[in-house]
Amino acid sequence: MIKRSKRDQRQGAIGLSAEAIAELNGRPTELAVAPHDPDSESAWMADGNCRLHPPATFFPSDGVGVDKARKICRDCPVMGRCLEYALEERIDHGVWGGCSERERRRILKSRRLETTSVTV
Ligand code: SF4
Repeated sequence: MIKRSKRDQRQGAIGLSAEAIAELNGRPTELAVAPHDPDSESAWMADGNCRLHPPATFFPSDGVGVDKARKICRDCPVMGRCLEYALEERIDHGVWGGCSERERRRILKSRRLETTSVTV
C-alpha cells in the first residue's frame, strides 16, 4: 500500500480519478471481473458487496455519498474484516467496513486511549 501525505490526499480528493485513489489505497477497482487469488491477504475483498458497485461510490465527497456507501456496507458479509483491514493499514481515505475516514480515526483514537489506560 502506498502511504500518502495529507497534502497528497487532498489533491487526490480533487485531482485523481476514483480508480487512481482506489489503487493507491489497495482496493481492487474491478473486483467483479478481476482474477482472484483465494490465498491472498486481500481475498476477502472478493466477497464484499462493493464488488458490484463503482469504486467511486466508496470515495464520496460529501455526507450523502458516505451514507450511500454505508448502506451498501451494512449487510456486507466481510464488513468486520474490511474495517479491521482499513484500520490496520491506516487507510485514511474512503468508506471501508461501513465507516468513514472520520469514524475510523475515532476508532483508532479510542483504541489508543484504551491501550494507554490499560498500561498505566
Ligand atoms: S464493508 Fe463495504 S467497503 Fe468493505 S468490502 Fe464490504 S461493501 Fe466493500
